[in-house]
Amino acid sequence: MLTVTNPADGSYVGEVPEMTVSEVRAAVDRTCDAFPAWSRKLAKERSELLRRWFELVREDKRMFAEIIVKENGKCLSDAMGEIEYGLGFIEWYAEEARRVYGDTIPTHASNAQVIVVKEPAGPTAAITPWNFPFMMITRKIATALAAGCTMIIKPSELTPLTAYKLLEYARKAGIPEGVFEMVTGNPKEIGDVFTTDSRIRKISFTGSTAVGKLLASACGKDLKKMTLELGGNAPFIVFDDASFDDAVAGLVAAKLRNSGQVCISPNRIYVQEGIHDRFVAAVTERVAKIRVDQGLQEESVVGPMINEAGLNKVAQLVEQSRNEGAKVVLGGKRHEKGGLFYEPTILTELNDDMQIAQSEIFGPVFPIYRFKTEEEVVKRANNTEYGLVAYAFTRDLGRAFRLSKGIESGMVILNTGAVGTASIPFGGIKHSGYGREGSYYGIEEYVEVKYVLMSGLDK
Ligand code: ADP
Repeated sequence: MLTVTNPADGSYVGEVPEMTVSEVRAAVDRTCDAFPAWSRKLAKERSELLRRWFELVREDKRMFAEIIVKENGKCLSDAMGEIEYGLGFIEWYAEEARRVYGDTIPTHASNAQVIVVKEPAGPTAAITPWNFPFMMITRKIATALAAGCTMIIKPSELTPLTAYKLLEYARKAGIPEGVFEMVTGNPKEIGDVFTTDSRIRKISFTGSTAVGKLLASACGKDLKKMTLELGGNAPFIVFDDASFDDAVAGLVAAKLRNSGQVCISPNRIYVQEGIHDRFVAAVTERVAKIRVDQGLQEESVVGPMINEAGLNKVAQLVEQSRNEGAKVVLGGKRHEKGGLFYEPTILTELNDDMQIAQSEIFGPVFPIYRFKTEEEVVKRANNTEYGLVAYAFTRDLGRAFRLSKGIESGMVILNTGAVGTASIPFGGIKHSGYGREGSYYGIEEYVEVKYVLMSGLDK
């Protein structure tokens, strides 16, 4: 068995099976065997099953949130937010299942009709991370099932309990065995089973860029389709003309979600020189009041880091920045609560050559950089191998437009720190991966386009 512990205090939360390779293969067999019947179901039938699942989970939101808090460490309000977000994907794709439309195209011959249909890609697999134990599962499986694909999921071994609870509710809703399968065990062994089984036609992965690249090269052998949502290094740019209070509030909310352990977390905060000092003071005042505590404690906003490795990475990056000349305005060390808690930290006097500028921090650290001009900051924002999201605050419409074109990333978010819901295409470019999740674009990742030419129609 794999034991799951609470990052807040190391206590036992539960356990899940540590499956052997042959057990994983058997689950893949079920996923593949279930595909023909599931793909032939009416869109309406698939939609109704997803809707039923959505309703059952919604009734027990609080119970799901508590499991998330216990295995992931995030605060209860954060967990409730994740559930709303994650439920949104089941609801959205329950609706979208009915709208996988094809095309007819004006024909090149008078006795012919060109028809384009979208067929389910086949049996699929997914591997998910620990930072959103609920939403990462719903976002992938709801899309796959709506498109007519079956899916086998390997959740993170750090947070599998939420995933298994979701599976239990899917069964209660009537989603059959094989259509939605789950496996836990050795990540590499399971990954190898998924990537080497030629019946699996698509893999969706969210996690580190390093593992994403390994999986992508393994998938190359069979030319499997992939959706890869990998690391980020999000710039968060605040211009002198921004709505100041909105920018402060947007930054703090976006940065502290899941205690900073989010791929879209603002990772390089660029503030224009006219407001830099005032902005740093306002953010500091706000962050200094934030409660750091275990997630079920009501006023808690920042919880523990997920594990020792995560904590050490954050501590090392802050220490190195300090050695390279950064100023620690707030925090800068492990929290006095001990364990895996780290103080919300604000760093200034940074430059782009420091290690922190090119690292995904994954912790409650605000690195604030100073900039002079729009041209300069766009160049600096793009100076990263990643390209997931960029945030900017400005009230100048022309500037907002130029930024939306000039910034190299899959998502550009203006004048808010909230990226969105199930209805938007989430995803990145460059080393942040490819493919989109959410919206009608998400479903395109799970279908194959088939062109049918019906000719000889005049006979
Ligand atoms: P993180 O650093 O966010 O934990 P990882 O990429 O290590 O990111 O983990 C994301 C997911 O990938 C987890 O479910 C993990 O178990 C899985 N994973 C890690 N290594 C491998 C591997 N070699 N093959 C397949 N999956 C893996």
